[in-house]
Formats: sequence, C-alpha cells, structure tokens
Amino acid sequence: MGQRLKELIIQRCKDKEIPLVGFASAERWNDPLFEPWIPEEYRPCAIFPETKTVIVLGLPVSLPVLETAPSIHYHELYKTVNTLLDMHGYQLAEWLTALGHPSLWVPRDGYGSISVLKERPVVFFSHRHAALLAGLGTFGINNTLLTPAYGPRVRFVSVFTSAALAPDPLITESLCTRCMACVQACPVRALDGKDYPLGLTDKTACALRSEALFKRSVSPCGICIKVCPVGEDRQRYGRTDLAIYDDHDERFSRYHHAWQHVRRHGGR
Ligand code: SF4
Ligand code: SF4
Repeated sequence: MGQRLKELIIQRCKDKEIPLVGFASAERWNDPLFEPWIPEEYRPCAIFPETKTVIVLGLPVSLPVLETAPSIHYHELYKTVNTLLDMHGYQLAEWLTALGHPSLWVPRDGYGSISVLKERPVVFFSHRHAALLAGLGTFGINNTLLTPAYGPRVRFVSVFTSAALAPDPLITESLCTRCMACVQACPVRALDGKDYPLGLTDKTACALRSEALFKRSVSPCGICIKVCPVGEDRQRYGRTDLAIYDDHDERFSRYHHAWQHVRRHGGR
C-alpha cells in the first residue's frame, strides 16, 4: 500500500508540473546529521504527532528572472512561487486526508513580516532541513539547500502525513564547490565562508537588507543564490560563465542593459 501511494503522489506531482518531490521518514529528525541539530519542538512529530512521513515539494526560481534582482520582476516571481507551493502543499495534504491518511500542510513563509524575522530569525519548521532529509540536496556555504537540478534556485514546501512511505536516499556528497562566489557577492558581507552549520549567516544584516528592499517593493535580495555555479539550470539557460555578473565585462553588456531596464521599473 505504501509503495502504491508513493507512486500515486509522484504521478500527481508530475501531472501538476512539480519537478522536485522527496520523502523523509519522521524518524530522520531524531537522528542528527550534524550539530547543532534541529531542536525537538521544531521536529514534525512535535508539530503534528501523527506524522510518519514528510513529503517535500520543490519549485524552481527561474534564473533569468533572478538575474534582474533586486527588481519587481524577481519580487513577483518570489511571491508567485510561494503561492504555488502553498497551494500544492495544501491540496496534497487535503487529498491524502480524504484518502484516509490525515495530513497537514506547513506554509512556505511562516514568519509574518521581516520585522518579526529581525527579532526572532527562525520559523516554526525548516523546509530546507526537510528537503535535506528527503534527499533533495545538500547545504552550501550560502546556507541554502543546493540541488543537482537548480542549485539553490529552488523553493520548498512540506506536507506532514500519517501515511508511512518509503524514504528517499540522502545525498551524501556535498554539492557545494566552496567557490566562495556567494561570500564575495553578498553586498552586506553576511556570509562568513564556513561550511554549514558552522558557517553562519549574519541574519540581522541579511534581514536589514531584505527590509530595505521590501520598502522599495524589490525584495528579496537573492544575490547569493544567483551567483552559485551549481545546478543544471545554468546549462539550460546558457549561464555557465559567471563573468556575466561582472558589470564591467562588456561581452555581457546586453544582459546588463536588460537587467538595468527592469530594475528601473516597478520598485521605488
Ligand atoms: S540574501 Fe543577500 S544579504 Fe542575505 S546572505 Fe544572500 S546575498 Fe547576503
Ligand atoms: S556559490 Fe560556491 S561556495 Fe557558495 S554555495 Fe554555491 S558552490 Fe558553495
């Protein structure tokens, strides 16, 4: 039954054009992969005690839109991807519940506003860690989850289900090349260049930048995920030469003009 249901979920995701789906048993949260690990009250069974499996869905952030950031274009894409993830997560949870497997959707951005995030920079459940435990990627120096298909240019949502489904294997080799492009590109030096979880993002500096961009309607920042060389999407869009992000490299001036055009509109 578990295998059949897993196949049905994977097919459902294909039908809805959700390219990434992974499965993690709730027990994986009780088996620390590194320290410091996820505190008990942030684990699926503490939030929804019936949880046997966490299903993680991922949607890509289109690289050519991200390249315009900070911009209204990326701002709108970010909102759209979050909305789609929340819809897919909610619908999947309701569908599973109707099939007799009580399930719960966990929202995409559970922090209310950036000022809340500045005071308390953690959410009640981490989708990044769920995606790690569902075998979808590994952490990078930019503190995001890198995936083979999209590098860090992907967003996740999670569904807790009482159905026991076979977990997917974890990715054991780090996908991060330690190129430090993210560290060098961060405009507020919020990344310290150390491996996750020892490397810390200066969350206050990052949140302050986000807040400033939000006031101009051009949040979020996105620079540390834009420059990451990991991800097959770079080949797909013909963006393997990172010199494209050097404003002084004239070989790419038509891209720079395009991004500047977008940046001049829609924000304050
Ligand atoms: S989102 Fe922007 S400010 Fe935050 S760490 Fe990444 S590059 Fe730095
Ligand atoms: S930009 Fe380089 S160092 Fe940063 S996460 Fe990506 S691969 Fe790792």
